[in-house]
Amino acid sequence: MTMGVSVADSTSPSGSAPRPLPQPYSTELSEALEHRGRDTPAHERIYSYLFEYRNAPPTDAQIADYFYADTGQRPTQLDRRRREVGEVFQIEQVRTGREVAYRLVGWRAVQLARGAGISQRDRFVVLQAGRCAKCGRTVADDGVKLVVDHVIPQAWGGTDSLDNYQALCQECNAGKKDFYGSFDEYADQIREAVNYDEPHRRIAMLLKATEGEWIPSDLIGAVASAKQFQEDWQKRMRELRELGLQFEMRKKRLPSGRVTTEWKLARWKDLPNEPLAPLIRRLEREKKLAK
Ligand SMILES: [Zn+2]
Repeated sequence: MTMGVSVADSTSPSGSAPRPLPQPYSTELSEALEHRGRDTPAHERIYSYLFEYRNAPPTDAQIADYFYADTGQRPTQLDRRRREVGEVFQIEQVRTGREVAYRLVGWRAVQLARGAGISQRDRFVVLQAGRCAKCGRTVADDGVKLVVDHVIPQAWGGTDSLDNYQALCQECNAGKKDFYGSFDEYADQIREAVNYDEPHRRIAMLLKATEGEWIPSDLIGAVASAKQFQEDWQKRMRELRELGLQFEMRKKRLPSGRVTTEWKLARWKDLPNEPLAPLIRRLEREKKLAK
């Protein structure tokens, strides 16, 4: 068990009061985590336990218990997520016997660097589009407010570079945040998949990592486009069949009425260790010749 530790009412050297910590599940918290690409339901929940129990700092085991009591699920990758919350907030380690507890202290004075962030020039270039990349509404005609969005969220290994930015209206941005948040349990697999240079491999590794699960086509499209935009990632999937992979597809109607598709891996085959695009072209040529 942890010892009760009181949080000192520290004041900064200049005498001004330190910035108060955001309340759990507040907009302020969401924005602070979002700024780092860390705003997911799991991150917010972990923060809430650190906040709630900051006078009796919890161990990871206790955080996991609180999590389970509230959601009926064990948190995945708790250690990583707690560290990521710690990129924004100062979390001290408190040793109690053999255990380590985590005490939420305050805001980080200097937030840990994760790349320089978006430059003014890039922001200008992206927003110049004047149009939401998702719903197509414009600043001029529809009066939407555009924000710069990371196509692949930073939490999934998305980079701070122009080809990973797009302009989204605030509504689409919020929708995307919810959508991606629902996949946070796959964050490690996605992070692994997006790191492959070839789109075929990114798609294949995502479906392999999430084997047995139905994956929405939007997610596959996003991962396929992680390094280069893929106009037609469905074609990449058809091509993967040449290599012996098999997929199942089903249609699904969203609450909004929009019909979308979901995919799952039906059969896996290890991918050869050579560039896939030329190999697929060769296989397709051989097939044609055989006819
Ligand atoms: Zn939009």
